[in-house]
Amino acid sequence: MEDLQEALREGGLTVSALPGKGRSLFTAKDFYPGEVIIRQEPYVFVPNNSASERRCEGCFSSSNLKKCSACRVVWYCGCSCQKSQWKVHQLECRALARLDEDKRKAVTPTIRLMLKLYIRRKLQDEKITAADNYRLVEALVAHMSDIDEKQLVLYAQMANLVNLILQWPEINIKEIAENFSKFSCNAHTICDSELRPLGTGLYPVISIINHSCLPNAVLVFEGTAAVVRTVQHISGGSEVSISYIETARSTMTRLKALKEQYFFTCSCPRCDRVGQPADIQESAVLEGYRCKDDNCTGFLLNDSDDRGFRCQQCGLLREKEELKEITNEIRTMSEKAVAATSSAKLEEAISIYKMIEKLQGELYHPYSIFLLQTREKLLKMLMEVEDWKEALAYCRITIPIYERIYPTIHPLLGLQYYTCGKLEWLLGDSDVALKSLGKAVDILRVTHGTSTPFMKELMMRLEEARAEASYKIRPIDE
Ligand SMILES: [Zn+2]
Ligand SMILES: [Zn+2]
Ligand SMILES: [Zn+2]
Ligand SMILES: [Zn+2]
Repeated sequence: MEDLQEALREGGLTVSALPGKGRSLFTAKDFYPGEVIIRQEPYVFVPNNSASERRCEGCFSSSNLKKCSACRVVWYCGCSCQKSQWKVHQLECRALARLDEDKRKAVTPTIRLMLKLYIRRKLQDEKITAADNYRLVEALVAHMSDIDEKQLVLYAQMANLVNLILQWPEINIKEIAENFSKFSCNAHTICDSELRPLGTGLYPVISIINHSCLPNAVLVFEGTAAVVRTVQHISGGSEVSISYIETARSTMTRLKALKEQYFFTCSCPRCDRVGQPADIQESAVLEGYRCKDDNCTGFLLNDSDDRGFRCQQCGLLREKEELKEITNEIRTMSEKAVAATSSAKLEEAISIYKMIEKLQGELYHPYSIFLLQTREKLLKMLMEVEDWKEALAYCRITIPIYERIYPTIHPLLGLQYYTCGKLEWLLGDSDVALKSLGKAVDILRVTHGTSTPFMKELMMRLEEARAEASYKIRPIDE
């Protein structure tokens, strides 16, 4: 790891082992909001292609795709992407082309990521750089002893498939299974600037960065490159942290998710408060019920005699039976909504989700994360059917909730302001759009930088809104 340390030192970073956390990334100088801490190309990556979604192997574009005629598994948008991937795909292609149709269907993105990992290792030559070396993959944690029997069997089956495809005599099946386990806790979902998932990549140096539910940095992607940016001032000698999970959940939910997927108990400042009065209240607001009295905003806790949940502000009780009834009704409707969505009946899905929203409004606290998720779904669907006015109404009611659950600099909050601004602009309200777009730029320039096409478009929209707003206030006789 000496050469990695040296490469990191140049960027003002260092790796140290922390008790209970293992390798961790530290700063050796101050980093300021918006500054890039580290940028890394993936060691290997694949698009998340499925029967319904296809993307280019090199750039994730979904237009003008052509299938590789030899293996008929991989897609390209053009010659330059095909060329850029050829060194690795050449060997993969030959192996895939041997498979019969049934086996070829079993080649999921995760299997392909593994094929590419082994091919990449085979092709590794002497002139490798410190950050682009299979030894970094070897150093990743696999957590084999934490995995349950069922998962181990699955990894073994997947390893057998990889072995069958590659047919390399020297390959170690046990090691492949272990690498699948490494993928599950180390691989990153590659997203576009609006945080929509596109693919999966392995970034061994980025994997050194530990999790916090209150992180000082954020991971975004520029194409396939992983970029970690500072979201708050980090002084030299501090640990760099990003979030591995959705942080807008109760402490118990976050701890459970981190334990299940990443096998550790988070001890960040937010998780350290677990069980304290402020944390109990926060959890009850995010994932708990609302008061029976419509005008009361108190949070509810399980009653001592277990009859139901009692409002901590006004003392009113909600009986278990009543809550159960609404919950069941929501469950039935959710099934219908999912069915309508999957059969592309958008209008029907929208009307069912509106009924769910109403029921959740009766059940959960107004700042509930479940209510927010339903409104998010409605916002997306309303945008799809181009009902801008209603979409804007939904976007606006989610913003105060975003502001409450996320820190001031958070990509999701910035993106929500952006959506709001775009809708306001579309509906001709340039003054209001100017404010929303301005807020979006303030946040996203820190989390996303300013050089990507996505950010350039946002800043251009802001300029347009500014120009139109100033045109409007100019006196008539001028
Ligand atoms: Zn491409
Ligand atoms: Zn091919
Ligand atoms: Zn935490
Ligand atoms: Zn109350």
